[in-house]
Amino acid sequence: MPDHVHLSLPPLDQSTVQYAPDDAVDFVIVGSGAAGGVMAKELSTAGFRVVVLEQGPWRTEKDFVHDELKIWNEAWLTNDFRVSPNTFRATAHDKARVQPAILYGRGVGGTTVHFSANYWRFREIDFVEASRTGAIAGTGFADWPITYQELEPYYTKVDWEVGVAGVPAPSDPPRSKPYPMPPHPPKSTGVLLEQGAAKLGWTAHPAPLAIASTPLPGRGACIQCGLCLGFGCEVRAKSSSLVSVIPVAVATGRCEVRPDSYVRKIETDTAGRVTGVKYFDARKAEIFQRAKAVVVCANGAETPRLLLNSKSQRFPHGLANSSGVVGTHLMFNGGGTSLGVFEHEVNGFKGLVASRVVWDLYELDPALGLVGGGGFDYRFDLTPIQFATGDGLPPDSPRWGREYKRLLAHNYTRTIECYGHTSSLPMPTNTITLDPTVKDAWGIPAIRMTYQDHPQDLRLYKYFTDRAEDLLKASGAVRTWQRPVESQAFSVHLLGTCRMGNDPATSVVDKFHRAHDVPNLFIVDGSSLVTCGRGQPTMTIQALAFRAGEHVAGFAGRGEI
Ligand SMILES: Cc1cc2nc3c(=O)[nH]c(=O)nc-3n(C[C@H](O)[C@H](O)[C@H](O)COP(=O)(O)OP(=O)(O)OC[C@H]3O[C@@H](n4cnc5c(N)ncnc54)[C@H](O)[C@@H]3O)c2cc1C
Ligand code: SF4
Repeated sequence: MPDHVHLSLPPLDQSTVQYAPDDAVDFVIVGSGAAGGVMAKELSTAGFRVVVLEQGPWRTEKDFVHDELKIWNEAWLTNDFRVSPNTFRATAHDKARVQPAILYGRGVGGTTVHFSANYWRFREIDFVEASRTGAIAGTGFADWPITYQELEPYYTKVDWEVGVAGVPAPSDPPRSKPYPMPPHPPKSTGVLLEQGAAKLGWTAHPAPLAIASTPLPGRGACIQCGLCLGFGCEVRAKSSSLVSVIPVAVATGRCEVRPDSYVRKIETDTAGRVTGVKYFDARKAEIFQRAKAVVVCANGAETPRLLLNSKSQRFPHGLANSSGVVGTHLMFNGGGTSLGVFEHEVNGFKGLVASRVVWDLYELDPALGLVGGGGFDYRFDLTPIQFATGDGLPPDSPRWGREYKRLLAHNYTRTIECYGHTSSLPMPTNTITLDPTVKDAWGIPAIRMTYQDHPQDLRLYKYFTDRAEDLLKASGAVRTWQRPVESQAFSVHLLGTCRMGNDPATSVVDKFHRAHDVPNLFIVDGSSLVTCGRGQPTMTIQALAFRAGEHVAGFAGRGEI
């Protein structure tokens, strides 16, 4: 595999307008990821003066290398635990230990730069499931203040403005417009999933992906390079905020994207209104950027951390936290994984991650007594070193010697992981709080994560693990095994920690993402989600951002902020 693959694409413009720190711009946006990129585009194209503060660098595809050590061991594109540590404990009774618990993209484009771009819409049930299911002890399971129908036009904006390839499945929720690009062709793993699903009476559909299947203006189509999950796309096929919405914001001439700008505090005045943000630049100099309003898009872990670190005399429990809800109801999505080895080479490592999905268990038979549901895909997203040193081989395999080497060579090309992606319940006890002692390299209190899966969810994960193994057997795997089902202690889906709702006593933002406590503060990212869907939350995070952008621009235009 070559170290670099580059089409001759015109460079993306990084020269932005420059605002002075004491110039009170209309909006400061904290974070430039899935939601921050969309907010930047929506607010700047609506005519507002916008500064985007992003803690990480502004990269181009020239910086995206096929080097698994840089990506997975040296945090090339992601939060770096060595300078931004966090602690973890399962319950509030346990002692929190310093151990990696979160992974997200750190740089312009945020986590969309290196994610795997599975773009499932939520369905009607995801917005009203709590009232259909009834109360569940130990959870804050709640309905959303908006419906699928209200969000549908904005899902369509994501399809067309960010770039999603797919074809509607009969079980899809209603859509107002077709996909802008045809689906990607099936991989060998996709064909096997189709065959296995058919044997179980299910159907495998082309996976909707935020990956260009045909060239787009200034962007290439996917060349199936094979290092997708975790890696940046060298041909701009992956529809990251970096190559889709941020260039549109920059082209307005009204949006300044300021990379290497780490926001440490949101400041407020005596009236309780936001006045701007304090941040560190690349040299660790502290700067105060004035703003008429602030939009926080720092993700479901960093957003509550920033709000809690922004406490003041007027907001002693953290900004926008009179309810005490900031940081609570953390959701990861869950799931169950089984693995199978096939007789013939499958070469699942080639190309994008997953080309086909099975949604027959999106909603479960109530007779099962389970809550939630999910979908399956076949993938093989283990790089060679991960496969050799991690859990890619069957559990009874030798870990050294001749037989170990033989198995590595034989199984790498023949193994498939069947992922069951599921819902997980929002629990008030699963939280992001500030660690009382651990600080990052800038001296800012670190994230302390408290997380334990609900017993109901663990039963759901086991059910999906079993069905994942059924699928692999039905596809003809000669050997199958399950990954153990245990409570999660690490996640890449960081959701629900500033949930939206109509009641200021039980939620942080209203249904337009305005903080209940602070009229000129908006929170738009994974933290806004009330429930987490069945995996793949980013399509919904961006649909919410398009909706928020439209409403916030309306408020600003009418002088209602
Ligand atoms: C390996 C991987 C694969 C994934 N695959 C999928 C997938 O296939 N489908 C799917 O739906 N989801 C996937 N996800 C999850 C998805 O990427 C996230 O859900 C999504 O990007 C979250 O969007 P966001 O806007 O909340 O935050 P992010 O996209 O994480 O953006 C937050 C931004 O804020 C910046 N920031 C944070 N704090 C500060 C601060 N204090 N000052 C300045 N800037 C700050 C960060 O650097 C980052 O750029 C994946 C995630 C990972 C890690
Ligand atoms: S598989 Fe396709 S979308 Fe993914 S990084 Fe490679 S070229 Fe880009």
